[in-house]
Amino acid sequence: MLSIQNLHAAYGKVEVLHGISLEVPKGKVVTLIGSNGAGKTTTMRAISGMLKPKQGNVRFDGKDVTGMDSFRIARAGLAHSPEGRRVFSTMSVKDNLLLGAFPRFTRSRPRGDINTDLEKALELFPRLKERQDQLAGTLSGGEQQMLAMARAIMLNPEVVLLDEPSMGLAPILVDEVFRIISRLKERGVTMLLVEQFAAAALNVADYGYVLENGRISVHGPAESLKNDPAVKAAYLGGGHQH
Ligand code: ATP
Repeated sequence: MLSIQNLHAAYGKVEVLHGISLEVPKGKVVTLIGSNGAGKTTTMRAISGMLKPKQGNVRFDGKDVTGMDSFRIARAGLAHSPEGRRVFSTMSVKDNLLLGAFPRFTRSRPRGDINTDLEKALELFPRLKERQDQLAGTLSGGEQQMLAMARAIMLNPEVVLLDEPSMGLAPILVDEVFRIISRLKERGVTMLLVEQFAAAALNVADYGYVLENGRISVHGPAESLKNDPAVKAAYLGGGHQH
């Protein structure tokens, strides 16, 4: 479904991704774990077109989308739920969600039943349902994070990139976010997940990649990564345990 080959990306002259290759098969959840600054967010940005890769290939659904504008990549069916609270703060929650479906309104993606999908998204995120008419800027940080995730799903995407969906959330909301990811997985949604809670990410994922200083150091089925002594020592210990 999503296939990345030898991806290099840089900010100015500073290269931060030195040749990443990874695969996200249809219907699977793949997680990318790594320390702060390893390049996880940069990988997501280089895939979705927010940052133009210097070298390498991004193939999605059989098409080469490398270096394409992000709105074209979204139209092709790849949704990016970015890190942080990137919502349209002066618009209501509901309008933010409808904006996620924008390419469907303009028919640059199959329209389907937008209202039913809106209902489904609100069912998935009860907190957003209660607050659907509230301005997005007045939501708590955690709720805004959920809104970014729900908005990505409104594209009715083939693949969702979820960048740290649990960032800044209270523990009870972290659990809720992982429950939502599991439910999306049950619905067959293909996901690439970047998470600080590596143990929880490996519990929900089928496969994992470990990113170290812009390179993949280890990868394998989530089960085996969870039991890999080096991965356990570096990423699954102490404070990162969930
Ligand atoms: P974190 O878990 O802390 O979010 P990350 O693995 O997502 O980390 P990135 O955000 O991809 O890491 O950052 C990788 C490297 O690129 C870091 O050294 C960071 O300082 C640098 N970097 C990120 N964004 C920019 C930018 N806009 N301009 C210059 N350098 C950047």
